[in-house]
Amino acid sequence: MTLSEFDLIERFFSDCGTPRDDVILGVGDDAAVLRVAPGMDLVATLDTLVEGVHFLPGTDAQALGYKSLAVNLSDLAAMGAEPLWATLSLTLPEAAPDWVDGFRAGFCSLAREAGVRLVGGDTTRGHRAVSVEAKGLVPRGMALRRSGARVGDGIFVTGTLGDAGLALRALRDGLPVEDLAFLRARLDRPQARVAVGRSLRAVASAAIDISDGLLADLAHVLGASGVGGVVWLQRLPLSAPVRHYLEAGGDWAIPAAAGDDYELCFTVPAANQGALEKLLGGLPCPVTRIGEITDGAGLRVLEPDGREFRAPRAGYDHFVRDA
Ligand code: ADP
Ligand code: MG
Repeated sequence: MTLSEFDLIERFFSDCGTPRDDVILGVGDDAAVLRVAPGMDLVATLDTLVEGVHFLPGTDAQALGYKSLAVNLSDLAAMGAEPLWATLSLTLPEAAPDWVDGFRAGFCSLAREAGVRLVGGDTTRGHRAVSVEAKGLVPRGMALRRSGARVGDGIFVTGTLGDAGLALRALRDGLPVEDLAFLRARLDRPQARVAVGRSLRAVASAAIDISDGLLADLAHVLGASGVGGVVWLQRLPLSAPVRHYLEAGGDWAIPAAAGDDYELCFTVPAANQGALEKLLGGLPCPVTRIGEITDGAGLRVLEPDGREFRAPRAGYDHFVRDA
């Protein structure tokens, strides 16, 4: 059975996420009308996932629905913004109700959990692709940027690194790993660090979310801030499966450069380290100091034996092919 475009929108997307008083008009008109609280800045972000590029054909619809929103919440988290509203563009080869229902379940459950309302979108036929735009608010002038890091600031990350990257190696290349269920959940259901981002507003000097791999994303912060940095690989926070993978001779590129972590990387000036320590107990995940901002340009990455680490490639670029 297939549904018409309008049946599909009505059935699956007209009541998705948390109902909000600031949604004056949601799904069903030509555009949504959203009320922005006074004294706040509007923060907007969009991410697209294309089948065959960002997810494998046959990927579970529910996992995809969840992740398509989660990656956007992660971008808002990195700005210190509170996510409130989302729009969704779905391009599908056919209107298969089971697939759309699974997608909706993943997307709308996270929207509800995050206090976000789906307020509109677009539905078209074509090669399977999902675009989500998320919008949120931050107190005026308080958005965290990539450009604020200064010499002497500490470099920190949330959570653990490399879990999603190791899951991908296991699923795609058949690499044997410990606790694939845990790693896979980290790949399919990333936890956007929204609460952390919010509490960093007055503490961090710069922030970014790690989507392309720590070293690539940290390099964006250094470039935008016009500074250099040093990172010690032995300080990277690791889950047990990734630690054991490395102890067995695994590749440091997994925690340092593999993508899809959706943790936050941020910098904190020495003057704010006390304020950061006060926050730590109240945060839902560990925060680890992995390096320091230096003068000059570029990132130095040191292996446990003090040798300079050479990443195989710096993150993912859609328009630059692998050498
Ligand atoms: P228009 O032709 O004016 O763009 P559409 O027919 O595309 O309107 O959409 C009708 C309504 O349904 C709009 O409010 C739009 O935001 C909403 N909508 C369409 N597709 C989706 C979707 N996938 N998720 C949520 N809302 C959607
Ligand atoms: Mg439309």
